[in-house]
Amino acid sequence: MSEEPRFIVDTMLGRLARWLRILGYDTVYHRRLEDWKILKIASEENRIIITRDTGLHRRALNKGLKSILLEPDDMAERLALIAYLTGIRLYIDLDRTRCPICNTPLLRVSKKDVKDKVPRKVYELHDDFWICPRCGKVYWMGSHWRMIEKILEDARRIYEKLRNDRRRLFE
Ligand SMILES: [Zn+2]
Repeated sequence: MSEEPRFIVDTMLGRLARWLRILGYDTVYHRRLEDWKILKIASEENRIIITRDTGLHRRALNKGLKSILLEPDDMAERLALIAYLTGIRLYIDLDRTRCPICNTPLLRVSKKDVKDKVPRKVYELHDDFWICPRCGKVYWMGSHWRMIEKILEDARRIYEKLRNDRRRLFE
């Protein structure tokens, strides 16, 4: 298997960082990270920069780094564009999902292991649980799951359109 792309996301794109982690991609994000530091980490760790800042984007390209200037506001469009440019998956592989908060790969745990860690109702309704070994947060496919699936469905549709438009361009 080829190596998976890794990312560093500009300070304004916290929500996107969480999405990339849920999709299973190693993504650096801090609320406060100056441009020089983003460029340094991208260079040292071979990460693709994702930014909305034209200045940072240009500086990255001048240094020979990979950078994506992200223009769309809509999350499905953003993910589709990133998939088009880098080949990321637009579906969730739960064995690769990373903690959206701290970027650590999640571990699947048995139901009884989370008994005291989740609300009783959640425990009764769900059988599959994951835990972050670093920050301890427990995850399950809660009500937000439908929203996630919906956005990914839209993203896949937009991605197909991007590919078709490109094909047409070269025909
Ligand atoms: Zn975590």
